[in-house]
Amino acid sequence: MSLSPRFIAFILALLISFLTTTFLAFVDGVTAGMLFVTSISAFITSFFLVLYTVDILVFREVNKMYRTIHKLKMRDFNMTPRKKLIHESNPLKTINDEIFVYVSKKQKEIDELKKLELFRREFLADVSHEFKTPIFAAQGFIHTLLDGAMDDENVRERFLIKAANNLDSLDVLVKDLLVLSQMETGDIKMNIAEVDIRLLTLNIFSRLENIAADRKVSLKVKPDELSEIWVSADKDRMEQVMLNLVENAIKYGNEGGKVIVHFNEGKRFIEISIRDNGPGIPQEHLNRIFERFYRVDKSRSKERGGTGLGLAIVKHIINAHGTKIAVMSKLDKGTTFSFKLEKAPGRAETLVKEIPEQTSSEVN
Ligand code: ADP
Repeated sequence: MSLSPRFIAFILALLISFLTTTFLAFVDGVTAGMLFVTSISAFITSFFLVLYTVDILVFREVNKMYRTIHKLKMRDFNMTPRKKLIHESNPLKTINDEIFVYVSKKQKEIDELKKLELFRREFLADVSHEFKTPIFAAQGFIHTLLDGAMDDENVRERFLIKAANNLDSLDVLVKDLLVLSQMETGDIKMNIAEVDIRLLTLNIFSRLENIAADRKVSLKVKPDELSEIWVSADKDRMEQVMLNLVENAIKYGNEGGKVIVHFNEGKRFIEISIRDNGPGIPQEHLNRIFERFYRVDKSRSKERGGTGLGLAIVKHIINAHGTKIAVMSKLDKGTTFSFKLEKAPGRAETLVKEIPEQTSSEVN
C-alpha cells in the first residue's frame, strides 16, 4: 500500500478523533450530539493539520532532495529531463531507488576509471621495457666503439651495424605506437574506397617473398580461379592488416609450411581468412594476443623482430571498418585469422572470374 500524505493524515485524524471522543464519553453530562460534533471537528482539524505537516515538512522537502538527485543524474549521465515529481507513491522509496541507481552508476564509473588507471600503469611499464632493450643495446655498442673498439675495422663495422639495427627496431616501435595512438584518438580517418583485395594480397605476398623464401614457406590465395575480388576498405590500412597477418603466419608458422589466404563470398560480405599450418596458439593465450605487447612465446617473438603491437593495430583497423577479427587455432595444426569486409557496392561484379588462357590447340 502506498503511504501518501492523505492516507497518513486520514489514519492519524481517525485515531485522534476516536481517542478524543472516547475520553469525552466518560465525562458526565456530555450528550451524544456533543460527542458527534467533537469527533467530526477533531477529525477535520487533525486531518488538515497532519496533512499540512506531512505534506509540507516531509514530502516537499523529500521532493526537493529528489529534484537535486535527479538533476545530478541528468547532468552526469546526459539524460533528458523527466518532469514528473513524486506525488502519488512513497517518496522515500522513490528517493531510495534513485540514490541506489545513482550510486551504482557512479560505482561503475569508478571501477572503469580504476581499470583505466591500471591499464595506463601497465602500458607505461610495457613501453619503458620495450624501449629499454634497443636503447641499451645501441648505447652499449656505441660506447664500446668509443672506448677503443673503433680502431679495429672489423669490430667497428659489425658494432655499427648492430647499433643501427637496434635503432631501426626502435623506429618501428615508435611508428607502431604512433599509429596505435592515432587510431585510438580517432585522428586517422578511414578512406573507404573500392579495393581489389585479391590483388592487394598478391602485392603483400611479393613484399614478403624474401622472408617466406628464407623460411621456405609457400604463399597462396584461394579460390584460385578468381582474378578480382572487390571490397569496400581503406587500401593503405588494409595493406597494413594483410602485411601483419601474412607476416605473422610466415614468422610463427612452421619452416617449410604453407600460408593460404581464403576468400569466401557471403551475401553482403567477403570473408577473408589467413591460415597457416604452424604450431598454433595455446587456448589460454587466444583472447589476449590482440593486447598491446602481448606475446605468446616472448623469446621467440622478440627474436623474430616483432614489436608486439601488430595485432593490436590490426584489431583497431578492422574495428574501424565496422567489423571484427576472429582467431581460431589448434595446437600443431595451425592458426586462422578471419574477418569480413563489405562488398564494393559500386561494382557490378564483386568476384571476377579469371578467363582461362587459350591454348594453342584451341586457337587453331
Ligand atoms: P609481434 O610483433 O610479436 O609479432 P603481434 O601483435 O603481431 O606481435 O602478435 C602477437 C603474438 O601473437 C606474437 O608474438 C605471437 O606469439 C602470436 N602470433 C601471432 N600470429 C601468430 C600465428 N599465425 N601463429 C602463432 N602465433 C602467432
